[in-house]
Amino acid sequence: MHQQRNTKQKQVVETMLKQAGRPLLPKELLSKAQESLPQLGVATVFRALKKMVDEGTATVVCLPGDSPRYEPSGLTHHHHFKCSECECVFEVNGCPGHLDELLPKGFQLTGHEITLFGRCADCSADHL
Ligand SMILES: [Zn+2]
Ligand SMILES: [Zn+2]
Repeated sequence: MHQQRNTKQKQVVETMLKQAGRPLLPKELLSKAQESLPQLGVATVFRALKKMVDEGTATVVCLPGDSPRYEPSGLTHHHHFKCSECECVFEVNGCPGHLDELLPKGFQLTGHEITLFGRCADCSADHL
């Protein structure tokens, strides 16, 4: 019985993360998941996320100076945008590429992360 409940809770967390379409903090995920499971606690969300990372269904998104956020695994190569007003992080599709051209001579590029900062559409609208 206990096991079943845990499985259901993890499913809700997993579904919410997929539906969100952007990387979420555990507390953001918690408030979304509580809409369908009001009794859900933050410890359960952390446990579910850890399990999903172990299983490979979720990926940790670490922006400099921020707590880890989570997004579903298997997304195509993309980057992130952080709104400096509401502090939400969004997926940015596309990549400028050719970043190896920036490297000093003799260096080899093995990966990159790009974070854009600014105001999201909702927060920009507030400023009109
Ligand atoms: Zn915003
Ligand atoms: Zn890229």
